[in-house]
Amino acid sequence: MSETRGISLLSGGLDSMLAICLLRDQGIAMDGIVFVSPFFDVRPARKAARQLGVTLHEVDFTPEILPLLRHPPHGFGGAMNPCIDCHAAMIRRAGDFMREHGYAFVSTGEVLNQRPMSQNRRSLEVVAQTSGLAGHLLRPLSAQLLDPTEPERDGRVDRSRLGAIQGRQRVEQIALAKRFGLVEYPSPAGGCRLTEKGYCRKLRDLLDRVPEPAQPTADDLALLRYARQFRLPEGGRIIVGRNRADNQALKAYRDKGYAILHTVNIPGPTALILNALTPGDLDRAARIIAAYGDRGALTEVIVRHVTPTDSREFAVAPLPRDDFQPWML
Ligand code: SF4
Repeated sequence: MSETRGISLLSGGLDSMLAICLLRDQGIAMDGIVFVSPFFDVRPARKAARQLGVTLHEVDFTPEILPLLRHPPHGFGGAMNPCIDCHAAMIRRAGDFMREHGYAFVSTGEVLNQRPMSQNRRSLEVVAQTSGLAGHLLRPLSAQLLDPTEPERDGRVDRSRLGAIQGRQRVEQIALAKRFGLVEYPSPAGGCRLTEKGYCRKLRDLLDRVPEPAQPTADDLALLRYARQFRLPEGGRIIVGRNRADNQALKAYRDKGYAILHTVNIPGPTALILNALTPGDLDRAARIIAAYGDRGALTEVIVRHVTPTDSREFAVAPLPRDDFQPWML
């Protein structure tokens, strides 16, 4: 058994699992690494690590990804996904981890020409160069189509047993999955919220509200997951709960100093207020939650405005939905 140890980026997708399988198949000890931030779902990586029986190292990636959302040197993909720079930053961090923990190389599940923007030959080279890991970055699925890396040249990795896969077809990956007994793996897309246009509208709005050099707080980022968010005409920002779980979670933000609005005389949603509202926007916010409430034939709804220092109630008429739809992010 070789003493060589490698660390592999493990997203939980099939390609990232196969990269580990191909290397382990030649006796190399492999661990996984995944990067944690409010934008990525790490559960598939944890599940994949369990299935493969590898140790998964989870590394906080929020400080690296936030600046890239404002100034991605290589631009965005279809939404706010700065894939080339994000990937290079992950590989750079994986490289630091490799050096700190004595691994021989970093590997990834990238496949040549699988994605037009981030996995063409040029992008793979850019990532290898900008990550500072060029000779120690191995793409086992496409290795035979790429320049040999250091561990291939010195014989610690047998290049002839690596893949020559390219393109978007997944026939070879499916065959490899069968060979390695992988039965459960998620579909290729998904897992990164930066590729979702609806989510990115809220993120863009947040970044506009928090100009540099400030950065959004962990709470700001966590709140992006709520669907009903509004930018009111006089600059107010509110989040309106969609169900009981949302409403309870939003109410809990009172303890962190946020103000909220909720209906009093009918069942209705809670609104979390993200910034200081003008009297006009406060009225609009109250009329929005009144509109979502279960008001029957009532034409007036009592709303309570709770701030860290005060609480007061007032009556409003629900706003017609067509009036506030354009304010939704
Ligand atoms: S899809 Fe998301 S996680 Fe993956 S490289 Fe692009 S920005 Fe980074």
